[in-house]
Amino acid sequence: MTRAFYPGSFDPMTNGHLDILRQALAVFDTVVVGIGVHPGKTPMFSFDERARLIADCVGGTSDAELRVVAFDNLAVDAAVEAGASAIVRGLRDGTDLNYEMQMSGMNGVMRPEVTTVFFPASPATRPITATLVRQIARMGGDVSAFVPANVAEAIRGKTA
Ligand code: ADP
Repeated sequence: MTRAFYPGSFDPMTNGHLDILRQALAVFDTVVVGIGVHPGKTPMFSFDERARLIADCVGGTSDAELRVVAFDNLAVDAAVEAGASAIVRGLRDGTDLNYEMQMSGMNGVMRPEVTTVFFPASPATRPITATLVRQIARMGGDVSAFVPANVAEAIRGKTA
């Protein structure tokens, strides 16, 4: 059984995150989404809200198992705790690549038993970042082209 850990903030889940998650669910038996929670940082959505939005937008669309957990330690340690042998990351562009190569290189030294697996962003989701989604939403913009329908609905509930 193959199990991967997909860490991120997912505040909120975007179409970019969902694209990578779907690719991972097609390859691994189990994908554990790790929502990084940082004490002192106020997120747009609580852990419980983010976890529900992620589970709801994947629904029953995959045979693979999806789990969602919170973590506040190193992603590579959280991956080991989750019983995963791989960390999933998405690549949008060269900036992501440079940063992700540094992280995967250092993670590989700390935990050689965990391999980083990169999935390419689909062309339509390449420009999407959760940071810009939050900014657009806070300024009253329409983010429905960038996030799953349930997330757009939840954002409307927050910003109305
Ligand atoms: P964000 O701050 O945008 O939520 P995170 O740091 O939480 O991003 O990202 C979690 C993972 O999801 C990272 O591997 C990141 O590269 C990937 N990711 C984020 N947005 C996209 C996207 N639009 N397309 C592909 N991968 C993405």
